[in-house]
Amino acid sequence: MEVRLSQDNSESCERVSGGRCGYVIFGASGDLSQRKLLPSVFSLCRTKRVAAEFFIVGYARSAMDDAAFRIKVREAIRQVDAGIAESEIEAFAQKCFYVSGGYDQDDGYQALKARTAELDAAFATGGNLVFHVATPPPLYAGIVAGLGKNGLLKRHQNDAPFQRVIVEKPFGRDFESAERLNNDLLEYLAEEQLYRIDHYLGKETVQNILMFRFANPIFEPAWNSAYIDQVQITVAESLGVEHRAGYFEQAGLLRDMFQNHLLQLAALVGMEPPVSLDSENIRDEKVKFMKSIRPFDLDNLPAQMVRGQYGPGVIAGHEVRGYREEAGVSPSSCTETYFAMKLSIDNWRWHGVPFYLRAGKRLERKLTRIAVVFKKAAYGLFAGNKSVESAPAPNVLVFDIQPRQGLSLAVQAKVPGVRMCLAPVRMDFNYRDVYGSEMDEDYSTLILDCIRGDQSLYWRRDGVQASWRLLTPALRDSGTCSLGGASGPMDMLEIYPAGSWGPTAGERLLEKDGRQWLEPSLGNT
Ligand code: NDP
Repeated sequence: MEVRLSQDNSESCERVSGGRCGYVIFGASGDLSQRKLLPSVFSLCRTKRVAAEFFIVGYARSAMDDAAFRIKVREAIRQVDAGIAESEIEAFAQKCFYVSGGYDQDDGYQALKARTAELDAAFATGGNLVFHVATPPPLYAGIVAGLGKNGLLKRHQNDAPFQRVIVEKPFGRDFESAERLNNDLLEYLAEEQLYRIDHYLGKETVQNILMFRFANPIFEPAWNSAYIDQVQITVAESLGVEHRAGYFEQAGLLRDMFQNHLLQLAALVGMEPPVSLDSENIRDEKVKFMKSIRPFDLDNLPAQMVRGQYGPGVIAGHEVRGYREEAGVSPSSCTETYFAMKLSIDNWRWHGVPFYLRAGKRLERKLTRIAVVFKKAAYGLFAGNKSVESAPAPNVLVFDIQPRQGLSLAVQAKVPGVRMCLAPVRMDFNYRDVYGSEMDEDYSTLILDCIRGDQSLYWRRDGVQASWRLLTPALRDSGTCSLGGASGPMDMLEIYPAGSWGPTAGERLLEKDGRQWLEPSLGNT
C-alpha cells in the first residue's frame, strides 16, 4: 500500500498507475455500475491511472448492444459531473463494450470469452482481466463457476497474465453462508485472485487512520487503555431505504453496515502496528484485532446492543415516511434500520476501553466519524480549585470520514481574561483546505488497487470469518420483533422518529456506563 499523503513528496505520491488489462462488469445494467463503477473507471482513464491499453465490457441479461450501453455510459459520467468535456466522455465510451447473456448459461460465458479475446488483441491488454461481480449476492458463486468452467478464469497465484475477481458486498448473510461462499469461490480462484470489496476502505480518510497512527509517533504512547477512555464510531445516513427495499428487507442494518464497514473502522483504530505496509501484514493485524473482540454474552444481548427502525419524521424541514410505509417494505417489517453495540476488546492495549458502534438510516444527517475520547486530566489539580471555573473536558481526536473529510483534536485552553476559565478548542485539518476538493472516488482507488494486484484494502478470508463469527449470534432474532414487550432476548425493536439520532435505547447503552455519544456538531465546519 502506498503512503499517499505527504505534502513534501506529493509529486511522487500523486499518481500510481495500473497496468494494461480488460475490466468486465457483471450486472452492468444495474445501479452500482451506473452510479459508481462506470464513473470511477472513467476517472481512472481520464487521469491516465490505467494504461492506454484498457477496455471495459459490461455483461448482463438486459438486451443491449455496444451503442446502447455507451448511451448508459455517457449518462453515468454526466450524472457525476455535468461539466466534463464531450471529447473526454467520447474517448472513454469508445473503450466500452457490451455482451448480453445469462448468469447460468454457458452460451453467455462463451460469447464473453470470444469478445474479450477479440478486445484483448485489439487493445493489447496481454490477456489480463479483472471481473467485477456487481449482481445480487445469490449470483456471485454461479458467476465465478461460469467463468471457471468456460475457461475465462484459471486458478493460479499471481502469474501473468492475471485474472482477478472483485466480489461486491455483502459477503454472506452469516458465518455459515460466508464460509459456503468462500468455498465455492475458492474452488475456481486462489485467495490471491479474490478481492472481497468494502468500498469504505477506499476512502482516503479511512486509509489516513493508519498513516496518522503509525507515522505520528507522538500518539502511539497514549494509544491504549492508560490514556484512552472510549472509542465511538458513528455511520449515520439521512437517506432512508430508497430504491433498495428488496435487498434491505432481507439484509437489515447489521448485515449491511457492521460486518464490513464498522468492524473495519474499529480494526483500523484498534490494530497493532503491522510489521510493514505490505497487504498481508496489515490484514494479519486487523484479523488479530477482530479475534480479540470479546464474544457477546448470549444471555444478555440487550445490554450490549440496540435495534431500531425509523418511523415517520422530519429531515431537513421535509416530512418523510416511516420505514414500514416505504415502497417494497412489509407494513409489519421487523427489519432494523438502526443498530448500536458495545464491543469489549480482550487484549493488553484495549482492556477496559469500550468501542461503541452505531449506524442508522434516516438519522438527523449524514455523518461518518470516529472519535477517540481520551481520559480526563488528573482530577486533583482542578477539583475544589475555586479559581478554575470549569472542569476540563477530555481531549478528543476525531477522524471525519464523510461528508467532511479531515481530523481534529480537541484540547483545553484558558479563556483570555483575568479569571481562570477553561474551554475546549480544536486543532483542525480539513482535506479540502490542503488538497482541494478533488478526492479520489473510493471505487477508483479499489479498482486501481485490484488492477495493480494490491489486496491491502480488501477483506481476506480469515477476516470475513472473524467478523461473522462475532456477529452471527446477534442476528439470531433479526426478522422478529415485538414493540414494547420483548419476548426473545433481542427482538425488541424501538421505533425512532426519522430525523433524530436513533432510539433512546441507543443513548442508554452509553448512559449506563456513565458516558454519552459525543455532540454530532463537534468539528462540523
Ligand atoms: P441491482 O439490483 O441493480 O442488480 C444488478 C444487475 O443484476 C441488474 O441490473 C440485473 O441485470 C441483474 N439482476 C438483478 N436481480 C437479478 C436476479 N434476481 N436474477 C438475475 N439477475 C439479476 O444491484 P446493484 O447494482 O444495486 O448492486 C449490485 C451489487 O453491489 C449487490 O451485491 C449490492 O449489494 C452491491 N452494492 C450495491 C451498492 C449500490 O449502491 N447499489 C452499494 C454497495 C454494494 P440484468 O437483469 O440485466 O441481468
